[in-house]
Amino acid sequence: MSRPFVPSPNVASIKESATIAVSQRAKALRAVGRAIIDLGAGEPDFDTPAFIRDATKQALDDGATRYTAVDGILPLREAIAADATRRRAGRDAPVTAGEVVVSTGSKQALHNATFSLFGPGDEVLLPVPSWVSYFEMVGLARANAIEVPGDPARGLKVTPALLERYATPRTRGLMLNSPSNPTGAVYDADELRAIVDLAAARGWWLVSDEIYARITYSMAEAPSVFDVASHRENVVCINGVAKAYAMTGFRIGWAVAPRAVAQTMTALQSHTTSNAATESQYAALAALTRTTEADAAVRDMVGEFKARRDAALGILTAIPGLDLVKPDGAFYLYFRAPGGDGTAYATRLLEDEGIAVVPGAAFGTPDWVRVSYAAARADVEDAMHRIVRSWSA
Ligand code: GLU
Repeated sequence: MSRPFVPSPNVASIKESATIAVSQRAKALRAVGRAIIDLGAGEPDFDTPAFIRDATKQALDDGATRYTAVDGILPLREAIAADATRRRAGRDAPVTAGEVVVSTGSKQALHNATFSLFGPGDEVLLPVPSWVSYFEMVGLARANAIEVPGDPARGLKVTPALLERYATPRTRGLMLNSPSNPTGAVYDADELRAIVDLAAARGWWLVSDEIYARITYSMAEAPSVFDVASHRENVVCINGVAKAYAMTGFRIGWAVAPRAVAQTMTALQSHTTSNAATESQYAALAALTRTTEADAAVRDMVGEFKARRDAALGILTAIPGLDLVKPDGAFYLYFRAPGGDGTAYATRLLEDEGIAVVPGAAFGTPDWVRVSYAAARADVEDAMHRIVRSWSA
C-alpha cells in the first residue's frame, strides 16, 4: 500500500535555499534559450588557481582517496589552528588541532555548530538582513530565530544596543557574518569587539561566519573575532576556502570552537557525512599553506571584484536617491527595490531584463534585492545599465 508523503515535523516548514533556487532558475531559462545574466549566485566566476588544482591532482595520485579522520587531516587542522593562534597574539593558550573541525563546506560547519549549540526553546539573535540559511539552520535545531533589524545609518549592521533590545532570558547566542552576505558591510574592529564583549558578558554563544574575510576593499582583511575577543570560550569561528580561493565545488569549510564543542560537532558529523572529501582537504591545505601563490591569487581576484564593484556603483549613481549599502567586502550589492517590493522587482528584472537577482525576502528584508557581482565585468555593467533603465519603467 502506498502512502502519500507527509514531511516529518523535522522538515515540515523547511524552504529551499532561495539563493540556490534563483541560480537554478537562471540556468533553466538559459537552457531554453533565454539570454540571462546571472547575478543571483554568490559564487566566484574565476577558475580555481592552477597551483591548487595541481595539488589536488597530485593528492589523488598520491592516494588521497580513502577516509580521513572525521574532523579532517591533521596538517589542515594544524594550519587552521596556527592562523587562529597567530590572531590570539598570546591572549590565551594556543589553539590546537583538536579545536578544529573540517566539514563539507562552511555550510555544514555552520549547521553542525547551530545544531550542537542551540535546541528547543532557545532564542538565537539574527541580525537582519542575514544569509538565508541561518534562519533554516536555527529552525532545524528547533530553536527560534529572533530577527534584529540592522541600523540603516550603519549599513544595516547591528550594535550591542540593538541586540540587547531583542534579548530575553531565553537568548542563547547570535550569528554574525562580516563581511556580510547579503550587504557587503564589514564590521570594523571596534564594532566587532563591542559585540563579542556583549556576548561574553551575557553568556551567549557567538557564531562568527567569516567566509568573506579575505574579500575586502579598504583593508587587507576583515577583522576576525579572534583578533578582538578577550577570550574565546563562547566563540565559534567559521571559515572556508570557497569564496576567497574560488573553490566552491571543493566543499571545504571549518569551525574553530572550544574543544568540547568541537568534539560534539565531530560526533554529529561522524553520523552524517564523516570526513569532508579527502582530495578536497589536500586542496585546501595547499590554499592555506602555499601562501605566496595563494596571496597573489587572492589579490588578483579581489582586485577584479573591486573594479566590478566600483563600475557597478558608478552606473547606479544614475538612480536618484537609491537606498544602497556601500559595500566594503564580499561581492554583493544590496539596495531597496523601487516600490519597496523586492520580490516583485526581482521577478520583473528576470522576466523583462533577463537579470537574475535574489529577492531580499530571503534575507529577512523583503523591500530589498541582492545583486552578486561575481560575474564577468561586462555582464555586471550591462546588468547595471538595465537596472537603471528599468528603474522607473
Ligand atoms: N552563499 C552563496 C549565496 O549566498 C551560495 C549559495 C548558498 O549556499 O546560499 O549565494
